[in-house]
Amino acid sequence: MKWCSFEKDHEQKVGVIEGDFVYDVSNQVHTTNLLEVIAREFIPDIDLDVAPMERLADVRLLAPYRPLKNVMCIGKNYEEHVKEMDTAGAGKLVIFTKSPTSVVGPETNIERHPELTDQLDYEGELAIIIGKTGRDIETVEDHIFGYTILNDVTARDVQKQHGQFFRGKSFDTFCPIGPVIVTPDELNFPLTIETKVNGERRQYGTTADMIRPVEELIQTLSKGMTLEAGDIIATGTPAGVGHGMNPPTYLQTGDTVEVTIHGIGSLRNFVV
Ligand code: MG
Repeated sequence: MKWCSFEKDHEQKVGVIEGDFVYDVSNQVHTTNLLEVIAREFIPDIDLDVAPMERLADVRLLAPYRPLKNVMCIGKNYEEHVKEMDTAGAGKLVIFTKSPTSVVGPETNIERHPELTDQLDYEGELAIIIGKTGRDIETVEDHIFGYTILNDVTARDVQKQHGQFFRGKSFDTFCPIGPVIVTPDELNFPLTIETKVNGERRQYGTTADMIRPVEELIQTLSKGMTLEAGDIIATGTPAGVGHGMNPPTYLQTGDTVEVTIHGIGSLRNFVV
């Protein structure tokens, strides 16, 4: 299934998308907050035949939800991306987080923050949605609700100013997520990830090139640390970020960034 949050007549709804239509299942899941649906760890049978239906073109898709905790992010998980960045930490599992307040939805603005950074950059990534709380997880597939697209927007200069990536990764609007969460049964791995800036392809990779695949990431992150239903894990970005170009080419006001993962969709945002 393709789950989403959408807005119709200024009200937030939980939706299921099929083809060009979105079905309002808020009544059937007894909430308008998709995070609540996931956190319950129990999805009731959904009957789309009785759900109010809207044309996708007539609604506004929102970020699926804002998580309660920081978004967990994996760094340097694609060999070619490691090469285009400095090599510090290469070979080690790099884990950092982004503030929940940085989360925004598809078709929204990414703030340029010119007073804080001259090096605004994109990172198109596959994100895991945890669907079942657990610790020391072995059978990973039991704990995955689905997958979505995440743009790990980064102020490169601020990222390097501090001992941690947190601040340079967490300014408001630095975490576009969406447009939908797709359940694993509808996806065929490996998935291709493509990022375009103003229509020009900058990143293209496949999840087959991950140094540590999804299974290993969840097993490692959950060792001694509880992962909760609704937690979001961004799995790292392939090569082709603006910082790695020659010369480095950062995002500017007026740019459009679009991250596409086959089977999930496209996450498009506008730099203002
Ligand atoms: Mg990243």
